[in-house]
Amino acid sequence: MNIILLGAPFSGKGTLAKDLTREFGFVQVSTGDLFRENIKKGTDVGVLAKKYIDKGQLVPDSVTIEMLKQRISKSDCKNGVVFDGFPRTTKQAEELDKIAKIDAVIQLDVPFDIVRRRCLGRRICSKCGEIYNTATYSKTTCAKCGSPLFQRDDDNLETLNNRLEVYEKMTAPLINFYADRLVVVDGSKDPDTAFKSACKLLKEI
Ligand code: ADP
Ligand code: ZN
Repeated sequence: MNIILLGAPFSGKGTLAKDLTREFGFVQVSTGDLFRENIKKGTDVGVLAKKYIDKGQLVPDSVTIEMLKQRISKSDCKNGVVFDGFPRTTKQAEELDKIAKIDAVIQLDVPFDIVRRRCLGRRICSKCGEIYNTATYSKTTCAKCGSPLFQRDDDNLETLNNRLEVYEKMTAPLINFYADRLVVVDGSKDPDTAFKSACKLLKEI
């Protein structure tokens, strides 16, 4: 089974993707994480992507789609993928339909004022990628692996406003594109609430 998580920045896609991966044995494919890996390694894709990410804009479709195709051609994706942050445009969704069967799309619904509140508090484990928020977790090291937490360069209010505008304009239309496969989860509560409701919906499919 392949599923897509659709939602604004800070709707909880990354956290839910990790929880679903643990529960169902999916592989998490996050284009944001793939770009950040490329930036860290200094690849051509990374150098190009950074220019867009730092401004809160989307990386061009051609680059994103090519990187995604390479990732899902690997054998670990055969057992089911949870797509986190892809597709983000209609073009990406059309291309994905050509190469993978998408069984369900989970829309994580969160009002923008909650998104803004979550933005400044997000912290990420530098080793295992676990996601925390300073509102509920005050330590500076990961509860799972003990490694230091960091804040993403693009997690600031200036970039966030661009990211929200881009989401409304480019990504929100996918809610209609996937109307036949869409389930909606309330992402405004805590991560466990979203996880339980997503599990229930997926088991019904
Ligand atoms: P968010 O918390 O905003 O959902 P991500 O980690 O998914 O963050 O993505 C970070 C940035 O990487 C985005 O703001 C965008 O610039 C770029 N990016 C990620 N996925 C895509 C995609 N599918 N298409 C274009 N750009 C993307
Ligand atoms: Zn960790």
